[in-house]
Amino acid sequence: MEFIDLKAQYKALSNEINKAVLNVMEESAYILGPDVELFEQELAERAQVKHCVSCANGTDALVITLMAKDIGPGDAVFVPSFTFMSTAECASNVGATPVMCDIDLRTYNLDPESLEQAIVRVKEEGKLRPAAVIAVDLFGQCADYPAIEAICKKHDLYLIEDAAQGYGGSIHGQMALSFGDVSITSFFPAKPLGCYGDGGALLTNDDELAELFRSIRVHGRGEHKYDNVRVGMNSRLDTMQAAILRIKLEAFHDYEMDRRQEVAAFYDASLRDLFETPFVPAGYISSWAQYTLLLDNQAKRDELQKKLKEQGIPSMVYYAKPLHLQTVYADLGYKEGDLPNSEAASQRVLQIPMHPYLSSEDAKRVVTALRNAI
Ligand SMILES: *Cc1c(COP(=O)(O)O)cnc(C)c1O
Repeated sequence: MEFIDLKAQYKALSNEINKAVLNVMEESAYILGPDVELFEQELAERAQVKHCVSCANGTDALVITLMAKDIGPGDAVFVPSFTFMSTAECASNVGATPVMCDIDLRTYNLDPESLEQAIVRVKEEGKLRPAAVIAVDLFGQCADYPAIEAICKKHDLYLIEDAAQGYGGSIHGQMALSFGDVSITSFFPAKPLGCYGDGGALLTNDDELAELFRSIRVHGRGEHKYDNVRVGMNSRLDTMQAAILRIKLEAFHDYEMDRRQEVAAFYDASLRDLFETPFVPAGYISSWAQYTLLLDNQAKRDELQKKLKEQGIPSMVYYAKPLHLQTVYADLGYKEGDLPNSEAASQRVLQIPMHPYLSSEDAKRVVTALRNAI
């Protein structure tokens, strides 16, 4: 059994994907070919956002959001501590300072109260200028945007939705990739909407921001090709990846999202008497990038993972170390106990196999193994 079965997905879609990739080679427009713009339009339409600008990966997308606003040295970028490295790394990449905030232990997403406290603290200290907030849609579930958008408005902060894991999620019908001033996503193969390599995108309703993103991704290009008006980078989605993504986007909406819901509902019903299963607030829909169990403590979590392994069931720990305790950020002066929910999550979470090609038999095997282990 695979934790995320990309081979099964390829098998289901191989006829169409092979044809699309061959077509790109025959046309030989490898960089910013026709499929790139078509995919951008299709994704923007699905997310109900005006502009989609694709780029090389989700990390670049985050860096580009900050470059577009000239965020750099002296600026504070508020991020949750319990997330993938890129969410904080992008701030460091532009010379800004990531300010770590705590999460809500039920949703694993940025806790609006902790965010507001961090903003007030940074203002009082007067060393950094509060500039931006990056909220993450962790494990496929949107962050609390109603509350976070209000805080950003109150403090006049630029809000970025890190929806690298969020595609398919929604709040009261509003799709992930449509919150904040700009949203980014990643097409890393294991994400809910993945390609066959690296890829990413930025989505926004703001015309000026979209123009800036388009310029930055090709070396800060101006009106014409060899007129460079700002420092940019080289960050584009390959035509081949865009061609693959157009097929995967269709499959996602045809049946993959439904199948993700079926697997999650089965896990919920079969496990909730023995385990702390994921909490989805009313009005929220998760795309189940991960299905996360919360154990009582680290010893129990590690023991469960060992017992699953003995029964041939793969599992993962996302994320074993919160960002405020990472070696690279030792200089920022955080210590153990500063962000208790992020620390507790890193010690207590365990992710079990979750993907749209998980058979009912395999899902039952996972449940049986978990129940045996307890
Ligand atoms: C994967 C991920 C990223 C980075 O995406 P890449 O395409 O791998 O660069 C950023 N943020 C979060 C939350 C992620 O999970």
